[in-house]
Amino acid sequence: MSETKHNWTKQEILDIYNKPLMELLYEAATIHRLHHDPNTVQVSTLLSIKTGGCPEDCGYCPQAARYHTNIEGNDLMSVQQVKAQALRAKSSGSSRVCMGAAWRNVKDGEEFDQVLEMVRTINKLDMEVCCTLGMITENQAQRLAEAGLYAYNHNLDSSEEYYKEVISTRGYEDRLETIDNVRKTNVTVCSGGIIGMGEKIEDRAGMLVALSTLNPQPESTPINALVAVDGTPLEDQQPVSIWDMVRMVATTRIIMPETQVRLSAGRTQMTREGQAMCFFAGANSIFAGDKLLTTPNPDVNEDMEMFKLLGLNPQKPFIKKMQPETVEAKDSEYEALGEKPKWTRPEHTIERNESAKEKAKSVK
Ligand code: SF4
Repeated sequence: MSETKHNWTKQEILDIYNKPLMELLYEAATIHRLHHDPNTVQVSTLLSIKTGGCPEDCGYCPQAARYHTNIEGNDLMSVQQVKAQALRAKSSGSSRVCMGAAWRNVKDGEEFDQVLEMVRTINKLDMEVCCTLGMITENQAQRLAEAGLYAYNHNLDSSEEYYKEVISTRGYEDRLETIDNVRKTNVTVCSGGIIGMGEKIEDRAGMLVALSTLNPQPESTPINALVAVDGTPLEDQQPVSIWDMVRMVATTRIIMPETQVRLSAGRTQMTREGQAMCFFAGANSIFAGDKLLTTPNPDVNEDMEMFKLLGLNPQKPFIKKMQPETVEAKDSEYEALGEKPKWTRPEHTIERNESAKEKAKSVK
């Protein structure tokens, strides 16, 4: 097996992305087979443990408080509720639970302690536990690691240049800083992005440069197709074509051979044939459940039918890395420091984000 390359340039990535499709698929499928079982796909379940009311202005996100979309917000779920959902997910073939909270950043205190208890509880069910909670400090990442967290998700979303067109409340370097804080622990990194937000192909390549030049590369990379939600600044974006999705998956597979590539939001817009092509191109995970945080997702039974049709098996947990141990709260080595991650406040504002906010106010 060749060594993973960490100095990909944008031009090299564009050259791969733009190859004739049959060549691109052949190369991606060959690399995929060298590093992964091509008949195994991980089923992950995404739980929105705290929904809505987020102070950030990510232009694609219905959970940003400023856009007043029609989502039902909820306070932080209880540990028992999360446990019940994790057990249900496990019985339908999921080996990973990703818990998402619509927070700008983690704050030490009761709610974070509750999340740590959720991590302990799910790890004890022998499932991989992932969290996506916004920006975190190194101390908070260490506390999650100690509780038994397997992965932390923090997406780069797009290229550094296009990121500024979508989000104005924090900078790209803030994302990288959180990823770096996670890297200082034993927790694996999950980071990817979204296509179909109006970006150019160069931006997709730019995002892949940022991800693939991290050393080590992220263990997990979700590739999302934008689900345009009414009331958000990106509500009028047309769905991304399946060909773009396949090219993006294949390119990610080629430049990040060991990474688990996750087919994430936007699967309801894809046919089974389209998804099969993505699996052939190197995607080896899907998210299960009828909702992905707040946007629609295929039903788990439909997914199991698709697995049967394609001869795919759900991946067992901890294939790539051993299950972390869980340290109980009373035995913790780390105290809550009450610190906040520092983040930059970019000076730009995004016109369409501001107009979405104004429009939402006027229909109230
Ligand atoms: S993507 Fe996350 S940080 Fe951005 S608005 Fe939505 S919940 Fe908040």
